[in-house]
Amino acid sequence: MKIICIGLNYRKHATELGRPLPSEPVVFLKPDSSILKNNKPFFLPGFSSMIHYEVEVVVKIGKLGKGIAEKYAHRYYDELTVGIDITARDIQNRCSAAGLPWELSKCFDGSAPLGRFVPVSSAGDVGNLDFRLEINGRMVQHGNTSDMIFGIDHIVSYVSQYFTLKTGDLIFTGTPSGVGPLRKNDNLVAWLGSEPLLDMMIR
Ligand code: MG
Repeated sequence: MKIICIGLNYRKHATELGRPLPSEPVVFLKPDSSILKNNKPFFLPGFSSMIHYEVEVVVKIGKLGKGIAEKYAHRYYDELTVGIDITARDIQNRCSAAGLPWELSKCFDGSAPLGRFVPVSSAGDVGNLDFRLEINGRMVQHGNTSDMIFGIDHIVSYVSQYFTLKTGDLIFTGTPSGVGPLRKNDNLVAWLGSEPLLDMMIR
């Protein structure tokens, strides 16, 4: 399976990173070894001194598809959750400044913690989903999918022009503003609407 991620998909987040707004989705991949499930702890790696959280809505593909039209995209995902696109911001900044690929900053072990998946049918309107991240009981990020530059159906359609989507593939759909550093012993709780779907520790 593959994990497709969308970068810079919320205006205020692009602004906080000092990047121009994208005119097409910004796409990168994470390997399956980045997945962290069942609220397991994330261990801060020694190769970075600036590990950031990015809470995101994550869509699970439920059906094989390629070249999917946007109006049919909703048929190709059946479950959602919240996840964290953990990023070594110091490495990403270094790679970006040099015009190099940034995989080392985004794809390391454990860099894709996932919450418990819920059916799309119970989550409500995917174009108007509220989600947030609390660290040690304090809200640090709050987003709504209505603020995405590229909505979920557009993303599914767009990436399927390039990659065959397979059952079980995941799409991280971008983070709202408020990203910041993770520290040892932080407790992260990520919510989709009124449901806390992820509750994990940083070690
Ligand atoms: Mg991200």
